[in-house]
Amino acid sequence: MKRADVIVIGAGIIGLSIAWQLARRSHLSITVLEKGAGTGEGSTGASSAICRTRYSLDNMIQLARDGIAAYRHWADFTGLATPRAAFAEDGVLWMPGADTDWVEREHRRMQAVGVATDVFGDDELLRRYPAFSPCTLAPDTETGEAHTCRGGGRYLLETEGGYIDPVACADDLLQACRGAGVAVRFGAQVQGIAQSGGAVRGVTLASGEQLAAPVVINAAGPWCNQLSRAAGLTLPWHLRPTRIQVLYLERPGDLAGPIPVAVDMAAGIYFRCQNRGQQLVVGSVLEADERERIDDPDHFNRSADDDFTHAKLHALHHRLPQLPYRGALRGYCGLYTVNEEDVHPLVGESALKGFYLANGFSGHGFKLAPAIGAMLARQISGEACTTFDTAVDPAFFRIDRAPIAIASKSVLA
Ligand SMILES: Cc1cc2nc3c(=O)[nH]c(=O)nc-3n(C[C@H](O)[C@H](O)[C@H](O)COP(=O)(O)OP(=O)(O)OC[C@H]3O[C@@H](n4cnc5c(N)ncnc54)[C@H](O)[C@@H]3O)c2cc1C
Repeated sequence: MKRADVIVIGAGIIGLSIAWQLARRSHLSITVLEKGAGTGEGSTGASSAICRTRYSLDNMIQLARDGIAAYRHWADFTGLATPRAAFAEDGVLWMPGADTDWVEREHRRMQAVGVATDVFGDDELLRRYPAFSPCTLAPDTETGEAHTCRGGGRYLLETEGGYIDPVACADDLLQACRGAGVAVRFGAQVQGIAQSGGAVRGVTLASGEQLAAPVVINAAGPWCNQLSRAAGLTLPWHLRPTRIQVLYLERPGDLAGPIPVAVDMAAGIYFRCQNRGQQLVVGSVLEADERERIDDPDHFNRSADDDFTHAKLHALHHRLPQLPYRGALRGYCGLYTVNEEDVHPLVGESALKGFYLANGFSGHGFKLAPAIGAMLARQISGEACTTFDTAVDPAFFRIDRAPIAIASKSVLA
């Protein structure tokens, strides 16, 4: 029987980050098992991969900073001379509508923890981003009825935020892992979790092959419950695969100036560029758009709904009024894995000794991944790193914690 010190189940951004953070700090033998034919077949492939730091809890801010530091210095982190992915540091612009106090308050809070932010009003908004309308009113996305726009808002810009291509990142991590001797196998579906005496002993693949390891990590994204069940765990948490819709459209050449990652809180949308500014990606930040639970992560509707498309397009036009109502608009869907109790992930060792979970990341997992990898790699190997590590206490996400008190259960938690 083949043996490894650590088996990671899933080659999404979380599994590969864990494997890479283990490989770069230890001599453990690591095997990653992925049921798909390549990276990015789960949530990671559909991710908007927005890297923002503003969260309501300090530990989340710190983890986001630690994760984003790796994306911003991707060649250093991966050790690759020519990685495929490159961070687009376009900034993350928060637009809270008429709540100007929010901007000042959040600016002070971010400055206090060392996050680089700028605050400005309408004139500076138009100077930096001439395509934007400075309106503070929410568009009526149900009826599409127009209003007379009203300025006077304040805006918060996270200057070091941005986005990066999620599949290119996963491919880079794959290359980094393999270069460090990690065995990454595709078409390797884990079906059983072997255990005895209250400890994990390895896994069984759908092919019948068995692999032995004293540490097995469930990084299976929306499929995580199947593996936890196979391990015989009964968790007090409900981790639900949840259908999330995203739209994309061509960015017309006459749309003036740069477009940052924008979070239009009044309208309930986010948008950003992709493909070197040739396209716009648009998604929702509303809790109401994060409620469609999916029973089987292998089968769900991958097209965007008409009403979602019309509402978000109306909101986008309200913010970018020069955007013509023409050109192809397409939609796709991916899955969040939402922790219904507190929308924060479970990361750490389970009641089965040696069986670790890294599950339930809702809409946060991409930016956090390098830091989550560091957190688990540190726990498992006992080794710290001088670079791209995290000092956040792993107890924050432990499986036997009480639910974290949180004001919003949307992606903006
Ligand atoms: C539409 C959308 C937009 C998002 N936007 C953002 C964003 O802007 N910023 C952000 O930070 N996060 C965002 N997220 C969230 C983020 O993408 C996810 O939290 C993250 O990708 C989860 O990664 P993962 O590795 O846990 O899961 P996955 O990427 O799903 O990887 C799990 C892997 O495990 C494999 N697997 C499953 N079962 C088995 C098995 N039995 N055996 C072997 N392999 C198995 C699957 O094939 C899959 O490849 C978004 C997510 C979606 C869906």
